[in-house]
Amino acid sequence: MSFAQLGLTPDLLRAVARQGYTIPTPVQAESIPLVLAGRDLLAGAQTGTGKTAAFVLPMLQRLAASVPGTPGRRRVRALILAPTRELAIQVESDIRIYSSGNARSMPIYGGAGFQPQVNALRRGPEIVVATPGRLLDHVRQRTIDLGGVEILVLDEADRMLDMGFIRDIRAVIALLPARRQNLLFSATFSREIRGMAEGMLERPASVQVTPQNTPTDLVDQVIHPVDLGRKRELLTHLVRTRAIDQALVFMRTKHGANKLAELLSRDGIATAAIHGNKSQPQRLRALNDFKAGRVTLLVATEVAARGLDIEALPHVVNYELPVVPGDYVHRIGRTGRAGLTGSAVSLVSPEESGFLRDVERLLGTPITRRIVAGFEPDPNARVEPLARGLMRGGNRGGTRGGARDGSRGARPRPVMPHAGVGAGGSGERPRGDGFGRPTRIGSWGGDRPRRGRRQFGRGAVGR
Ligand code: AMP
Repeated sequence: MSFAQLGLTPDLLRAVARQGYTIPTPVQAESIPLVLAGRDLLAGAQTGTGKTAAFVLPMLQRLAASVPGTPGRRRVRALILAPTRELAIQVESDIRIYSSGNARSMPIYGGAGFQPQVNALRRGPEIVVATPGRLLDHVRQRTIDLGGVEILVLDEADRMLDMGFIRDIRAVIALLPARRQNLLFSATFSREIRGMAEGMLERPASVQVTPQNTPTDLVDQVIHPVDLGRKRELLTHLVRTRAIDQALVFMRTKHGANKLAELLSRDGIATAAIHGNKSQPQRLRALNDFKAGRVTLLVATEVAARGLDIEALPHVVNYELPVVPGDYVHRIGRTGRAGLTGSAVSLVSPEESGFLRDVERLLGTPITRRIVAGFEPDPNARVEPLARGLMRGGNRGGTRGGARDGSRGARPRPVMPHAGVGAGGSGERPRGDGFGRPTRIGSWGGDRPRRGRRQFGRGAVGR
């Protein structure tokens, strides 16, 4: 992939070449064509990935290709919000570089003289790179007019929210014309970021290059500890109480999926099953019914769900945990797409303690346990842990429509694994986990530390 293939004008290609860039970085390769096409964009990319050029280059091209909405008047046409003075200065300097000094741009930030900024604003910049607080100062003083903004960029949106700019950002957005292109760049996606994205982006294209931002970062995960024989009752309860409005429900086996769909239907919940034994027309019908909202629960096996194209799925339910822990990540990746809110609910019985331990080991963090009132697992029950070997390709999921009610075996009940709180199969109940008081022991979202390597190093070209 070369820059020329991205659809940039010769002027911009020359500017890029002058910087010594030969190959677009992944975020540039993905974002530039989308921004050029006028799409709103939700991009997961952190500093060092080349994200600045990913929005500056196509922005310059779009501005050059069109005339301002209000001819004659020099109004700000593109607004970039950045969390810090340093970033605002850096981005604005990149604009000068990529536009070969032809764009009228200026940075606005606090901690510097107000009047020089007012003077610069009088010269009518077309592009403003601003920190939110100082920008609002100018709005209040009526030294800036944002009524002509065509493109809005939120750069490092997560940092801006961390720094408490959410209200300022909302106030700025309220001043902009409703019709505009919106680009949001963030290294992480917390609930707040997702909320903001949902409010401001229109059918956004999404680009994700931040290496560690797996689906698990975008999905709220919870485990409801429950006895094996009461799972179906619990799922029915969650649907009736509207805790779950529509969900893709995962089973380990085709037989289990069929049986569960049948029993849930009997419970009065519109349910369909989708798995390898169903014909293509049957699968399509189930999928269409689900998409149209005629079906509340779509019960699926791992394999059947892989190819499903369902956008903005609100919930995934793991009725049974998968045997292979990586499948958990695939499953929950069906929700929380494009940075939208998603939730993954796992109904976990003590028999599945081994599977749960493997999933948490893979994630590197425990998942929140929350007992649903009335569904407390029976502490005196004796259960048989499910053996991995038995599960492979078999039908022994213990899920045959709750047929295991009362089938508690003779072996002692294993203790649910609980990372960090001295759990282990001692038969003693760990304090504060899903079997005792429901305690929040893990959380997901933007407050997690940023991890991992940088995909694309800064400094090679020099700043
Ligand atoms: P950013 O993530 O926008 O802060 O950019 C990180 C660094 O990569 C900056 O020093 C850019 O000048 C540089 N850079 C951006 N795009 C490219 C590219 N396609 N090839 C080489 N360096 C680049």
